[in-house]
Amino acid sequence: MSVFKSALNQLKTAAQAMNLEPAVLEVLRKPQRVIELSLPLKKDNGVVEAFEAYRVQYNNARGPFKGGIRYHPHASLDEVKALAFWMTIKCAVADIPYGGAKGGIKLDPKKLSEHELEHLTRSYTRALRWAIGPKQDIPAPDVNTNAKIMGWIADEFSNLVGEYKPAVVTGKPIAIGGSEGREVATGTGGFFILAEVLKKLKKDPKKMKVMIQGIGNVGYWFAKASQAAGMKIVGVSDSKGGIFDKRGIGMDIDNLMETKKSKGLLAGCYCSGSVCDCKNYQAVSNQKLLELPCDVLVPAALENQIMAKNANRIKAPIILELANGPVDSEADIKLAKKNVLVIPDVLANSGGVVGSYLEWVQNLYGYSWKEEEVLNRMKDKLAAALHAVWQAREKQKVTMRVAAFIVALRRLGESMKGRGVI
Ligand code: GLU
Repeated sequence: MSVFKSALNQLKTAAQAMNLEPAVLEVLRKPQRVIELSLPLKKDNGVVEAFEAYRVQYNNARGPFKGGIRYHPHASLDEVKALAFWMTIKCAVADIPYGGAKGGIKLDPKKLSEHELEHLTRSYTRALRWAIGPKQDIPAPDVNTNAKIMGWIADEFSNLVGEYKPAVVTGKPIAIGGSEGREVATGTGGFFILAEVLKKLKKDPKKMKVMIQGIGNVGYWFAKASQAAGMKIVGVSDSKGGIFDKRGIGMDIDNLMETKKSKGLLAGCYCSGSVCDCKNYQAVSNQKLLELPCDVLVPAALENQIMAKNANRIKAPIILELANGPVDSEADIKLAKKNVLVIPDVLANSGGVVGSYLEWVQNLYGYSWKEEEVLNRMKDKLAAALHAVWQAREKQKVTMRVAAFIVALRRLGESMKGRGVI
């Protein structure tokens, strides 16, 4: 299913459940602004290639547009629109003063040199110069983008406007105004939300067996935090495939990452050392990993992983969506029927954008907080968001996703009214 269509289905379901004012729905059915670009790049070998790029500014009723930039061979306008819509909902659930946006460049980062990536990032920033800014639209990292790339954006934008403007982008290197804690915020925040939900369900974290699809920045920091809390990581994957622990006693995430770094692959079942031992692990495809028995399934890679065709094969009773949009709208219905508790992306991974918000506040005021202070402030925001969502879930007897949308749509509606948009 088209990712944007799935996102709009979620919107419609929530609108029906809460009897949403038609004007709010009408405004939110389409993005406010879509920027579509073609960026020519003279590559190191002299050949010129033009890259498709996008920035979708979905809604700014609650504040400046906010959202990451993704570099991926399958990036498309449909996907970026959906991701920008989810940012709008996410920032409203977290109650931070932002609207929602997202950007993407259709490229395979493994096929470009660092110099080429820098050149393309700077030309993307020049093309968006009139649309982004600390009070207009603030990009951040997403799939395949990182602090170094954000640093190039901050530099290029500052040069263009003739003034140092680190607050134009978040997720920067700490040396140029990045925030302590931002790197770990999404994964650590996801763990915090899961731990709070487990408390509400009266489940012991130490008894939880966790399966993680995607061990990038988000999956890794989530794994670190959950392992420290005594949860057992029984399976992980990267873009090439995964492994699971046949013994079910849990993997050591750092040992695993070390081996991945030195040998390159997870799927080849290469593990070394006593903890990460090949005898005990079995190679498994990314799709199969989702269907293995565990207590908490954590899709932390890309959208549309759990759909109508595989939803009924999912065995986990809890899904924590650390990726954006990993469960599509048809699968949502099937999972709800099976009583699977889906902790939705717009809440589960909102630690990332809350971390970004705290970085932006520090930049605007010239502060620099220690990691502990940043993470404590982030936890306060996430606890309040979870509380609001849980209350709406119990009151309206709806799924957590619908409850999160209800909380967000109420807040968005109030802002639209406050500004006289509706
Ligand atoms: N890309 C992240 C997300 O999807 C973070 C966005 C941000 O920090 O602006 O939530």
